[in-house]
Amino acid sequence: MPAESPPVDSQAAADRQSVFSAHGVTKTYHMGEVDVHALRGVDLELASGEFIVLLGPSGSGKSTLLNILGGLDTPTEGQIRYRGETLTDFDDAALTRYRRRAVGFVFQFYNLIPSLTARENVALITDIAKNPMDPAEALALVDLEDRIDHFPAQMSGGEQQRVAIARAVAKRPDVLLCDEPTGALDVHTGVLVLDAIQRINAELGATTAVITHNASIADMADRVVHISDGRIASIDRNETKKVASELVW
Ligand code: ADP
Ligand code: MG
Repeated sequence: MPAESPPVDSQAAADRQSVFSAHGVTKTYHMGEVDVHALRGVDLELASGEFIVLLGPSGSGKSTLLNILGGLDTPTEGQIRYRGETLTDFDDAALTRYRRRAVGFVFQFYNLIPSLTARENVALITDIAKNPMDPAEALALVDLEDRIDHFPAQMSGGEQQRVAIARAVAKRPDVLLCDEPTGALDVHTGVLVLDAIQRINAELGATTAVITHNASIADMADRVVHISDGRIASIDRNETKKVASELVW
């Protein structure tokens, strides 16, 4: 007689594949007499290693969603599971640990410290991370080997943003969250930055979410999540992903 197959724990299996599982996430800001509904019930599954783009008009809730996934903000209602744990139940200490260990953030404005070199800006993070890269290794990942000892003022906008990306990935984050990373850059420079993000997703396997206003950036994602008025309007799967250098916007 064939051995009985072991019981399949489908929840455990799902949790291994899934990085984020968000259900009914709402965020309401109370502004005096007025309630601002930034998110109105978002359900979203993100698979391990996936690259998604969040696309939508200004004010549609993209940053709010990214900030909640990254533990910078908490929802008013709803539940988010992160690798099988309930992120929305984390206390402050657990949330801080989660942000430090698991999440790399990149913002539109690079937020580098002007008086520190590229290496020193990256070392700020590697000093507090659990299993960091050497800052030089992180800077090599974004093709900045020759800018290691430069100060931010000695670098172009695109180079500064790549330092910010190196800083975000030097802790070997499980998830890389980028909020309009090319928003302050011209097309050519933006492509270099997107190329760095794409390579980090591929080489480190970091699950990646990039917010943009720009529809052509969406071509490089596995899936494109269209956000409108605090809701997910639609999700498109890209069968033929483009590499950053093929993008023109
Ligand atoms: P997006 O990133 O798509 O431009 P946001 O997530 O930043 O949109 O904002 C969604 C809505 O929530 C907007 O109406 C915005 O004004 C509002 N909002 C965002 N953050 C705050 C806040 N801290 N306090 C009050 N309202 C906010
Ligand atoms: Mg935003």
